[in-house]
Amino acid sequence: MSHPDSAVNRPVSDPQGIAILGATGSIGTSTLDVLSRHPERFQVVALTANRNVERLFRQCVEFRPEFAVMVDHDAAAALGKRLAAEAPQLAGSIEVLAGAEALEQVAALPQVDAVMAAIVGAAGLASSLAAARAGKRVLLANKEALVMSGHLFMEQVVSGGAELLPIDSEHNAIFQCLPVGYPRGREHSGVRRILLTGSGGPFRTTPMAELDSVTPDQACAHPNWDMGRKISVDSATMMNKGLELIEACWLFDATPDQIEVVLHPQSVIHSMVDYVDGSVLAQMGNPDMRTPIAHALAWPQRMASGVAPLDLYAIAGLTFERIDLLRYPALGLAFDAARDGGTAPALLNAANEVAVAAFLDGQLPFTAINLLCADTLMKLDSEPVKDLDTVLDADARARAHAEQRLREGFGE
Ligand code: NAD
Ligand code: MG
Repeated sequence: MSHPDSAVNRPVSDPQGIAILGATGSIGTSTLDVLSRHPERFQVVALTANRNVERLFRQCVEFRPEFAVMVDHDAAAALGKRLAAEAPQLAGSIEVLAGAEALEQVAALPQVDAVMAAIVGAAGLASSLAAARAGKRVLLANKEALVMSGHLFMEQVVSGGAELLPIDSEHNAIFQCLPVGYPRGREHSGVRRILLTGSGGPFRTTPMAELDSVTPDQACAHPNWDMGRKISVDSATMMNKGLELIEACWLFDATPDQIEVVLHPQSVIHSMVDYVDGSVLAQMGNPDMRTPIAHALAWPQRMASGVAPLDLYAIAGLTFERIDLLRYPALGLAFDAARDGGTAPALLNAANEVAVAAFLDGQLPFTAINLLCADTLMKLDSEPVKDLDTVLDADARARAHAEQRLREGFGE
């Protein structure tokens, strides 16, 4: 984790150069919204997307990056044509690149000071690692990178001289509630536990018997947060909280047993830190990702994010509940994988990506997402993580297994 000294001493050009990996997604667009409020402080150097030509084109026109990357080659060609035809004055100044390798290339550009790593899923691993290796300020939304390869990722951060700032709202909250310099000063910090809060998602009070037949649109209708579809489903199963538990272990040098998950349906407290003297520090705010994004972009300073002030009188009550692991078995799987270590979290993450995609595609009932993850963890052995290949191999094995089970009619 980063330390403020390094931020203050680090020579950053003014305005700061920013690359946004996953610019067209929920986090990407929120990031651009924050940046648009501070044009004097930031310069968008690179924007990347998988294949959404329309949105990336509009972002290029508004933010005029030097590079626009589309992973899909046909989409890159279409973007280039669109710029030439509809924004000829920009076509010469924006270089359009194609393919997954270009993500790593723009993450490491010398004129980039900070990289927003906001690609969803394992697809974001290589470029998040590239940003760490290149010593950037890494604004990490792509939690899957830490879940899959936390040890390697944290090593790259240290050896690359990068600054790692968490964007996930809970982790950003914990970071704000921890003493400066943590975990370097962990031994003497007086932290007793980390309290990771979660809303419980859209099905917190749905009768369990009805969960079999919930639809993707119902699962994606989160009561408090507006997010991409994959993380929305993860929030409904609470696999998201499970992935966040693993993420927190790496970020804050904690064991799973030092972290307690607390249900907090209002999503006003974004997480807490409990100290040995009885103090509990909480970070609060409206549930809007522009707060953690602005916090990490400006850190160690503060800047406006566009988020409305918190109206305590409108909220009126904050409530807390114990987690029921029967309702949220995915969370139990994640605790097990976190305790097992090695490639277990990578296996779980990959099986979950396959299961969530199948659910969103109408191929798998909601309640079978967790069963497919459990089946994968039961059938495949985890092993110690030696290098990135070990992680990628575990990811591929888990995907192959889960996809094979789906072909056999799993969950029908
Ligand atoms: P999203 O689906 O809205 O956007 C994903 C982005 O990644 C898009 O720009 C898309 O073009 C790009 N992308 C998708 N597949 C890709 C691929 N194979 N190669 C390259 N790019 C690809 O997702 P999101 O909700 O913005 O989430 C992004 C990340 O942030 C996830 O890891 C998620 O867990 C994390 N996160 C999101 C939120 C939130 O509020 N949305 C909160 C906390 C953490
Ligand atoms: Mg979160």
